[in-house]
Amino acid sequence: MARPKDKPKMIQRPRGTHDVLPPEQPIWEAVRKTIRELSRFYGFERIETPHFEMTDLFTTGVGEATDIVTKQMYSFKTRGGDQLTLRPEGTAPVARAFIEHGMMNWPQPIKVFYDGSFFRHENPQRGRYREFHQWGLEVLGDDGAVADAEVIHVFTLFLREWGFKDFIVEVNSIGCPACRAPFRAQLTQYYRSKVRGLCKDCKERFKENPLRLLDCTEEKCMQVKKGAPQLLDKLCEACRSHFKLLLEFLEELQIPYALNPHLVRGLDYYTRTVFEAYVDEPIKPSAEPISPEAVVPEEKSADEEAPAPVEAPKLEDKSPRRLAVFGGGRYDNLVELVGGKSTPACGGALGLERFIALVREAGRAPAEEKPNVFLVQLGELARKKSFRIMEELRAAGITMAESLGRDSIRSQLKVGDRVGALYALIIGQKEALDEMVILREMSSGIQETIPRSRLVDTLKRKLKT
Ligand code: AMP
Repeated sequence: MARPKDKPKMIQRPRGTHDVLPPEQPIWEAVRKTIRELSRFYGFERIETPHFEMTDLFTTGVGEATDIVTKQMYSFKTRGGDQLTLRPEGTAPVARAFIEHGMMNWPQPIKVFYDGSFFRHENPQRGRYREFHQWGLEVLGDDGAVADAEVIHVFTLFLREWGFKDFIVEVNSIGCPACRAPFRAQLTQYYRSKVRGLCKDCKERFKENPLRLLDCTEEKCMQVKKGAPQLLDKLCEACRSHFKLLLEFLEELQIPYALNPHLVRGLDYYTRTVFEAYVDEPIKPSAEPISPEAVVPEEKSADEEAPAPVEAPKLEDKSPRRLAVFGGGRYDNLVELVGGKSTPACGGALGLERFIALVREAGRAPAEEKPNVFLVQLGELARKKSFRIMEELRAAGITMAESLGRDSIRSQLKVGDRVGALYALIIGQKEALDEMVILREMSSGIQETIPRSRLVDTLKRKLKT
């Protein structure tokens, strides 16, 4: 007896990824338009780098002992034997491109922006994905605090442009290798007697990179952190005046900022300035949690490591109502670290998923654009003539929609209504033969028959009023 075929298994998107469906496109497009305009106005030119790089770029650039490198990279070996990694961040690739294309010989500084996908194997939770999008700004070849200030300024202008006023930029200086060496010794001294009470990661950090002990958000480690020495008090003269100047710029630009002497950020390449900005989530009691699809139910696939429980909505942010939206800093040693000449640089990145979730929560998502005209055709001849009419409208800048696959006038008008078109353009067999068209105002139902040759002019006139 023939066995009934098994129903094919439905394949879902990988955990921590998301689709951007057609109804969500207007907001993504509008946000990207602001990104392009702001970046270009402030002199940042677009750069695109590959989605994957040689793994060494990140182990060397971002740092062997960082969370990104030890836990979060998607790395793989190619058939040719190359060891590659899906880019977890954009700064090291920009530094690599800077060196590879001899950009140090171009007029300095080099100011670039990017907008693309990044990949980190994190625990998906509210606002945290495994593939996410960032808008990045980088300035290479400028050691002045003005460059740090400009990067922060452009990101905050972006927040303001979208109506966010309740944000705070936390800033700190983690100095240069010269002031960091004695501080590291002091920090180690402070933590030595307290290591046993720290989390597992911090026990590692103590051995590998004590500075990153200050980065931990585990409750027990935060308690210990409170009494830790602060680098800000021990900066060398050059780092101190650089930081002072940055704060003066922030004040002049009226950027709300707060000193956070424990802010170090997770990457090894930072020197001097580090910053991280938070936006207050709009308070809407009945609102859905931010990005509900980010909290994907745990479904273990074969390649999953130890099961991670679905965590309660909680970010690395310190309060449930604060969302980290952009962060960055100065990275004066990175270019040299990945094989170039010593080049001062700074930059930052803003998370688009989080930002777009905030825009939605605040009810500021732009509505879908409505077409000016909906084309309704009846009969084969009219359908054949439709494409030419559509081209005439396109050339005249009149937006339109159609449903060429449908036959009945009623069902086509229904679609026209649903997409919110202002006018219906109806062509039946008779109109097609006579070179005429019927123009119907959707709101009133009033219609007139006009020669096709006058269609564009008539529409232009009507749409202006
Ligand atoms: P980072 O590159 O870690 O400094 O992050 C800069 C910004 O990117 C953060 O403030 C977030 O807004 C966003 N971001 C970082 N990691 C993720 C992630 N896994 N999912 C979504 N957004 C992220």
